[in-house]
Amino acid sequence: MSPADSDPDEAITKEEITGEAAAPPASTAGITKDITQRNACISELMRPKPKAPAQPTKSASTKQSGLARVFKERDGLGAYTHDPASFPAKRVVYFDDDFVVINDLYPKSAVHTLLLPRSPRSRLHPFEAFEDPEFLTRVQSEALKLKQLAAKELQRRFGKYSEADKLREAVLNGDIEWEANELPKGRDWEREIKVGIHAHPSMNDLHVHVISRDMSSECMKHRKHYNSFNTPFLIDVADFPLAKDDPRRHPGHAGFMNGDLKCWRCGQNFGNKFKQLKDHLALEFEAWKKE
Ligand code: AMP
Repeated sequence: MSPADSDPDEAITKEEITGEAAAPPASTAGITKDITQRNACISELMRPKPKAPAQPTKSASTKQSGLARVFKERDGLGAYTHDPASFPAKRVVYFDDDFVVINDLYPKSAVHTLLLPRSPRSRLHPFEAFEDPEFLTRVQSEALKLKQLAAKELQRRFGKYSEADKLREAVLNGDIEWEANELPKGRDWEREIKVGIHAHPSMNDLHVHVISRDMSSECMKHRKHYNSFNTPFLIDVADFPLAKDDPRRHPGHAGFMNGDLKCWRCGQNFGNKFKQLKDHLALEFEAWKKE
């Protein structure tokens, strides 16, 4: 099935919705358990040991409020909020009573996680869910925590290439004497992380994307994948509550997904030439790591 068969105003393909798309090994993308262990300030977020490895299956179902829920296709993310402990640590990064954080099954960047609130509001469209100010504040604050964690993961993986992290890396590697109690801060990796929801989500359970800017991933295969993260189709959670007349409320009218492909880093316009954009992004990725 080609991506043209799916809704043009959606960010993901039919195969991704049904789970038929090929997913990379979770070990090659996303936040690893290692970073959560190394990071003392988020150690309280560590998840308990998983009971048994599992993926959301087409037949997984449960009783909720007397109604059976089947976690398949557009309801697939519900499996994580329902029983996060049943997933391996490479998929579920951490969870508590209020949130589950997962590595995206089809990551579109080097780090791509989803924040899933465990709330009755999670079955609403985000525009409606975020009309509750208390809920919105809780999601915004958890998203900020996850952004910091994702930034640490970028630093762990790419700090060794970074000019701004040179001193920090040298201290970490014991190459130079360092008297101060704290490590040199190094590059501001939080600047490299975006936090937002898609104006027209494909998956029914509320999810916030916490994603690095690079768009470097084998799963980044279509114009819709790219434009959904590099146009106002991705709405920063900090921008909520949205004004009633905000054009992002009507992404189809605004035509975000059909716009030209423009490099997120240098702005070069590739029109509709996705392959050329992809080749260019591979070069930008190397340059970006070195900043
Ligand atoms: P959207 O609804 O457009 O905001 O995007 C949904 C996101 O969920 C995409 O980034 C998908 O790659 C991701 N996704 C879809 N199915 C699964 C799944 N079963 N497990 C984890 N991530 C998923």
